[in-house]
Amino acid sequence: MFAIIFILLVIALSVCTVVSKRSHRAIGTSVAILTFSLIFPVIGNLIIISSITRLPAQIGYYVYFLGMDAVVVSLLHFAFRYCVLSWPSPKHRFIVYGLVGADIFQYVLNPFFGQAFSTEEIVAEGEPYFRLVPYLGQTLHRVLCYGILAAVIIVFAYKAARASRINVERYSVILFTLIVFSIWQTFFIFSRTPIDRSMVGFGVFGILIFYFSLYYQPMRLLDRMLANIASDMPEALFFFDGSGRCIWANAPGLAMAGVDEKELDQVKLKLAQTFGDYEQEGNNWTSRRTIGPEDHPQYYLLEKRELKDERGRIAGSYLSIRDNTWDQQHFEQELYNSMHDSLTGLYTKDYLYQKIRELLLRKANVPYMVVFVDVKNFKIVNDVFGNAFGDYAIQCIGDWVQNGLSSNAVCGRLAGDTFGVCLPVDEFDPHRIEQTLADFEVKKDKISHHVLIHLGVYVLTEKNMDVSVMFDRAHLALTSIKDDYQKHIAYYDDAMRSKALWDQKISADLRSALESKQIVPYLQPIVDPSGTVVGAEALIRWNHPEHGFLNPNSFIPVFEKNGMISEIDRYMWRCACELLARWKDHPLFLSVNISPRDFYFMDVPAELKALVTEFGVDPTRLRIEITESAMMTDVEKRMGIFHDLKHAGFIVEMDDFGSGYSSLNMLKDMPVDFLKIDMNFLSKSQNEYKAKTIVRNIIQLSEELGIGSLTEGVETPSQYQVLSDMGCKLFQGYYFAKPMTVEDFEVYVFSKRSA
Ligand code: C2E
Ligand code: CA
Ligand code: CA
Repeated sequence: MFAIIFILLVIALSVCTVVSKRSHRAIGTSVAILTFSLIFPVIGNLIIISSITRLPAQIGYYVYFLGMDAVVVSLLHFAFRYCVLSWPSPKHRFIVYGLVGADIFQYVLNPFFGQAFSTEEIVAEGEPYFRLVPYLGQTLHRVLCYGILAAVIIVFAYKAARASRINVERYSVILFTLIVFSIWQTFFIFSRTPIDRSMVGFGVFGILIFYFSLYYQPMRLLDRMLANIASDMPEALFFFDGSGRCIWANAPGLAMAGVDEKELDQVKLKLAQTFGDYEQEGNNWTSRRTIGPEDHPQYYLLEKRELKDERGRIAGSYLSIRDNTWDQQHFEQELYNSMHDSLTGLYTKDYLYQKIRELLLRKANVPYMVVFVDVKNFKIVNDVFGNAFGDYAIQCIGDWVQNGLSSNAVCGRLAGDTFGVCLPVDEFDPHRIEQTLADFEVKKDKISHHVLIHLGVYVLTEKNMDVSVMFDRAHLALTSIKDDYQKHIAYYDDAMRSKALWDQKISADLRSALESKQIVPYLQPIVDPSGTVVGAEALIRWNHPEHGFLNPNSFIPVFEKNGMISEIDRYMWRCACELLARWKDHPLFLSVNISPRDFYFMDVPAELKALVTEFGVDPTRLRIEITESAMMTDVEKRMGIFHDLKHAGFIVEMDDFGSGYSSLNMLKDMPVDFLKIDMNFLSKSQNEYKAKTIVRNIIQLSEELGIGSLTEGVETPSQYQVLSDMGCKLFQGYYFAKPMTVEDFEVYVFSKRSA
C-alpha cells in the first residue's frame, strides 16, 4: 500500500515540478527545483520498501540520503527567493555548499569504510525489510540536514515576525508547513519504525509549498488593499447592501453627504437633496449632473455598479461621485483657447471657417459675402514702432473688423495681419468703409501711425463651396489692389479666377518650355542715323504648344510676381552671349532686359560676368537694359550694382525712359550710358507739339551729361526724320523692322551688310 502511495506522490511531485517550471511567477523555478529534489527521497524509500535483498535496499538508502542533501540545498534556495533575501556574504554560501559536498563525499566512501551506515535484515509486516543502522557519518548527515532546516525555519519565523500585519500570513503558512513536516520527519527517524511514513510528509510538504507559493492569495491582504484604496480615493464612494441600504462610505463620501458614520441611513436622502432625482433605472448606470449657480456651475460624474457574489446573485452595489468641475473648466478653457485668438479675442481661422459654414446653412436665403482684410506692410509697423505697438495695432484693427463692418458679421483672425469676415451683402457699405480706411490711424501714447488696410471681397455665388476657397477668391481680389492709397476695396470677378488659373498653368509649364526650346529670343534690329543695323534687342517669345505664340506681356508679369523671372532672364542672357560668340567677326551688340525683380533673386553682375567669360565675349557688346523703376528702389545699393556693371565693361541703358517717375534731376547721378526713350508713351500724349518739345529736351540734356540716346517705337519715316534732326544716336521700331527670329535676323543683317 505504501508503495502505491509513494508512486502517487512521485507523480504528484513531478506534475508540480512541470507546472511550476512553466509558471510565469518569479518564484516558479525555485519551487520547481524543490519539488523535483523531493522526488528522490521518496523514490529512495520506494526502493527500500520494495527490496527483498540487501543490495537494492542499500542503493535505496543512498538515493534517499543524497536526495535529502539536494532537498535541503533547494529548500534554502527557495527560502531565499521567497523571502527576498540573499546570502549574508559569499563566505557563508561557500561553507554551506562545502559541507553538503563533504557529506556527499562521505557517502561515496561508505562502501569502502562503512563509516556512515549499514543495514540489518528484519521482518516487518511479514516481509523482509532492511532497516538502517546509523554510524557517525549518518549522524553528521542528520546534523547538517537539520541544521539547514533549522536555519530555514528561523528565516521564515524572522520574516513572519517582522512582516506587516497584512503580509504575516504569507510567511506563517510556509513556516507552519515546515514545522509540522520537521516534527513528523523527526518522529519517524528516531522511532526507527520500519517503513518511513514520513515520506508521505515529504510529498505533502512539496505540494503545499507549491500551492502556497504559486496559487495562494491571502484574502486578507487583498481585502485590506482594496479597503485602503477605497478609503483613499478622492471621489466619494458609497456601498449599499442587497436591499439598497448604505453600509459604508469613504471620507469624501461622508463629507459630500454631510453625515457621519452613524448616519449612513440618511445618505440617500442627502444625496437626493444635492443632486435631485439622480437615481437611474437598474444598478449599472453613469450620469452627469451640473449643480450650483449658472455663473459658477459644478460638474459631477455619478456612476453606479452592482456587485455580484460567486453564484452571480446581486450582493450589493456601490455609487461613486466624482467632482469634475476642475476638469470641465480646464476643458472649456482649452476649448475656448483653441477657438479664439489670444491677442484679439476673435475666432481662430479654423473656428471661423466652421462658424461661417454654420451661418450659411442657417441663413440659406440671405446673400452673403466674405471679406479678406489685410494690413499692408505691417512688418514695417513692428520694425519701426516695436512689437508692443504692433500688437496694439492688430487689436485696433481686430476691433474695427468686428464692429466696423456690420453688426451681423462673423469674423476671425486668419493669420498675423490678416482677418476674415462673412456678412450679409446688404450690410456692406463700401462708401463708409472707404472713408474710414482713408484715414485709419492707430494712436498709442505719443505714437500715431496711419495703417493701410485693404479689403478683398468675394460675393458668394454658391454657398456649398469650401470656405477656404471663398477666402482664396477674396484674397485674389485683394492682390489686384496695387500699392494704391485711394482704393481700399477690390471685388472678385471671374476674370480674376481665369487669370489665376492661367498664371498657375504657365508657371507649371515654364521648366519644360525652357528645356524644349519653346522659349526663344527674337531680335529687333537697332539702327544708327544712316540706317545701318548696329545691334539688336533680344525679346523673349514663347511658342506654346497649346496656347500658340505668347506675347511677353502675358507671362512676364506673372513670373515677375512669383520670382521665376530670374530663370527666364538667365536663359535669355545665355542665348545672347551664345549669339555674340557666334558673331565674333561682326561688330554687333545685343541688348538684354533685366527685370527689377532679378536683383532680389540673384547677384546680377556676377551672373553676367560669368557668362561673358564663359563665352569669351567682349562685355561692351552686351548691353544691359534696366527700367527706371529698378533704379528707384533701394537707390544706394542699386547704384553700387550699376557701377559694378559699368566697371566690368557692360553698357547700361535706362529702358522706357519717360514712362515712369523720370526725374531729370536724378539723371546726373545715374551711372547709365544710354537713355532709351519710348515713343509709344509720347505718342499717347494728345499734344504732339508738347511731346516733341519733351523729347528734344531730353536728348539735349542727356547729350550734355554725356549720355547717349536711343528712341524705340519709331513707326514712321517722319518720326525717324525728326528724331535724327534732334540729334538722336540710335533707333529701334517697326519702321525699320519688327522683332524676328535669329535666323531671319542673320539673313536680314548679313545680306544687307554684304550688299
Ligand atoms: P521693352 O523692353 O520696352 O521692349 C520693347 C517692346 O516694344 C517689345 O515688345 C517690342 O516688340 C515693342 N516694339 C518695338 N518696336 C515697336 C514699334 O515700333 N511700335 C510698337 N508699338 N511696339 C514696338 P515685346 O517684345 O512685346 O516685349 C514687351 C516687354 O516685355 C518688353 O518691353 C520687356 O519689358 C519685356 N520683355 C521682353 N523680353 C524680356 C526678357 O527677356 N526679359 C525681361 N525681363 N523682360 C522682357
Ligand atoms: Ca527693353
Ligand atoms: Ca522699352
